[in-house]
Amino acid sequence: MPRQTWGVRCRAHRTSDGQPCAAWSVRGAYVCVKHGGAAPQVRAKAEYRMVMAGIWNQAERRLVKRLRALGSGSGIAWPP
Ligand SMILES: [Zn+2]
Repeated sequence: MPRQTWGVRCRAHRTSDGQPCAAWSVRGAYVCVKHGGAAPQVRAKAEYRMVMAGIWNQAERRLVKRLRALGSGSGIAWPP
């Protein structure tokens, strides 16, 4: 699978002062390692999300390519 950037911050909040954790989340998850990112169910869901995102990206690229091909003959600029 190609490397994808995740760039999602942990959505947990610190119990000490209620401030957001702000650590980077585990790829595919919305929490960092400290806040359950290493738990089996979180990892499973994260993996599933990344796989689904990969499939979706691939499908979208293919669709845009086809639409571009269609649009080139019709004088319609695609994507708009
Ligand atoms: Zn965290």
